[in-house]
Order: sequence, then structure tokens, then C-alpha cells
Amino acid sequence: MLEDKNQERTSLEKLGEFGLIDHLTKNFKINHKSTLKGIGDDAAVFDHTEKTVLTTDLLIEGVHFDLSYMPLKHLGYKAVMVNLSDVYAMNATATSITVSLAVSNRFPLEALEELYAGIALAAKVFNVDLIGGDTTSSSSGMLISITAIGEAKEKEITYRSGAKPNDLLVVSGDLGAAYMGLQVLDREKEVFKVNPNNQPDLSPYSYIVERQLKPEARKDIVELLKEMEVLPTAMIDISDGLSSEILHLCKSSKVGCNLFEEKIPLDPTVISACEEFNVDSTMVALSGGEDYELLFTISQNDFDKIKGNPSLTVIGHMTDEREGAYLVTRGNTKIELTAQGWNSFNSDN
Ligand code: ADP
Ligand code: MG
Repeated sequence: MLEDKNQERTSLEKLGEFGLIDHLTKNFKINHKSTLKGIGDDAAVFDHTEKTVLTTDLLIEGVHFDLSYMPLKHLGYKAVMVNLSDVYAMNATATSITVSLAVSNRFPLEALEELYAGIALAAKVFNVDLIGGDTTSSSSGMLISITAIGEAKEKEITYRSGAKPNDLLVVSGDLGAAYMGLQVLDREKEVFKVNPNNQPDLSPYSYIVERQLKPEARKDIVELLKEMEVLPTAMIDISDGLSSEILHLCKSSKVGCNLFEEKIPLDPTVISACEEFNVDSTMVALSGGEDYELLFTISQNDFDKIKGNPSLTVIGHMTDEREGAYLVTRGNTKIELTAQGWNSFNSDN
């Protein structure tokens, strides 16, 4: 919606595949000693001293992103973040990424430069090496697949399966903002379709729009936990919404859970946006998704170490598997959690 019609446009055919790869990747530097060979051979080579973790994600235009309000630089940044978030959720350090791209000839070189500017910024800020990828054409639209590689000491890797009854359930940051940011952007897109001269004022929504367009993977939380000498018993990142991630932890760890509604961390701008859009803020936190916060469990013995940290909130505790997974509401009723939020979504509670 903010497209500048006077931009320069260099067609991709002019460069050819190898010229394009070279042009997009020439300014990337290798920073990790463990990267023995990056771009430029048939495969990358690395030498990790610890265990290697690897994760990959596929993002498709029209399914996972909408270029009418997602600037390409943000898209490149976000595509890296969603992968790094998975590496951090294993309590690992991310070291490198590969970027595979399919683009239709509707995109000029300048568009891919923007995309790679976002990828480069993410790689710099999070200290990961771009070590390879693949580039091909698509008959329509854009596809991006990023793979992130990291390393961790074997005994520090946190699986989803390690939570025990009585462990505390902890979340970083706050929830629901990315979803509400998307609601604002969707609304502005509809307004723009009717009146293209209407430039939206998004300033009251800057936090939630930024959380949607420029999420930050929580590398800092992994570092914080190390500093505090807290090893989570289980961990997952929140990509699909709190509720579904809690259920993943419960299923993998064979435990139940009590989640306390009043403890769920919400930014004040999320609460006001929920009022404006007439949606329940707890529902948004449970089902909204794309928060890219970390959700983890710790032994009760570690509570004193995390107590009072503004980046971490205890939102519940794990129970015996037979007790099931529940939301305990402000009114002190227990509602069974489902992947969609809670069981009675369609009833009038
Ligand atoms: P191959 O034919 O062996 O697949 P390519 O010609 O596709 O090799 O790629 C040449 C080099 O450039 C490889 O090191 C590859 O990993 C890297 N590369 C290709 N496309 C990209 C991209 N979009 N981003 C980063 N590196 C890329
Ligand atoms: Mg190739």
C-alpha cells in the first residue's frame, strides 16, 4: 500500500542466475570460525565442537505473507527470525543460515536487494553466517525457505519433552501483539482499497504493528537464562499461540498444566486494541500466534533466580498428566485448553 511507483526496476533476466546470486550475497562476511566454507562451492562445510541443531521453514506469498503491507526488507528480516526462534527454543546458539528463493519475473532486482537487506540486518544483529542457498524462478509469486543451523552442549539442549509435574511454566515478553498488529494492517488495507489517497496513521499502533512486521527472536532470553544458571526442563517458541504451544509441551512431556489467565503478560496497547476490535485479549494471547516469545518450564528450585525479572513471567505450573491442561480464569473457573484457545470458544463465555 505504500508502494513507490517511481522506483528503479532492473529485470532479473539481465543478470542471470549466477550474476544474481553473486550480486545479492557479495557483501556477506563469514564471522564464525566454525564455518569452514560458506557460499561458493557445492556445499557448505562447518566444524562445530558441540552438537548441531538444524531447523527449516518455508514461507509462501499469499499464505504466510502479504506484500501489500509487508515491506520486503521486513520480510527478509522476519524470515530469518522465525528460524532463529526455533534454534533458541532448543537453548542453542544460532551460527548460520541458508536462504532459498523462488521468484517470478514480476520482481525486479531492486526488490530482491530489499529482501537481502533485511536478511543481512538479521544476520548481523544475531551474528549468523549466510552459508548458502538456492535460487530459482517461480511461475507466480515468491517463496522463501530459510534453514538455520546452531550448536549447543548436549546437556544444555532443551527438548519439549522434559517438563515434570510441579515445574513452573514461564513465558518471555508479552503476548498477542503480533496478532493485533495484523488486525490493524488488514483494516488499513481495506481502507486503502476504497481510498488509495488515504495515508493511514499507524502511530498509535506502532508497538503492535512492529511486533507483526519486525519480530525479534529471543536470543537475549537464552543468554539471560545461562547467566542466571537456569536450565529450563522443556522449551518451545510461541509461533502458533500460547494454547497450542502449551499443549505441545504437555503432550511431549506427558504432563498436565494449569495456566492462570490473570498472569498472562499483555502490553497495554494490546489491551486497548482488543477493546477497539471487540475481541477478548486472553483469546488473542492463547490463539493469536507469531509472538516468537519463548515458553519454558523450570524446576521450582529455580524460581528465586528468575523472580522479579521484567522479561519473564510465571504463568502457571505443570501437573500430573491425568489432570489435563486447563486455563484457570480470573473468575476461578477451569476451562480445558484446546489448540484453538479454549473448549468453549463458540459458546457465550
Ligand atoms: P548448485 O548448482 O550446486 O546448486 P548454485 O549455483 O545454485 O549451486 O549456487 C552457488 C552457490 O551460491 C552455492 O554456494 C549456494 O549455496 C549459493 N546460493 C545460491 N543461491 C543462494 C541464495 N539465494 N542465497 C545465498 N546463497 C545462495
Ligand atoms: Mg542450486
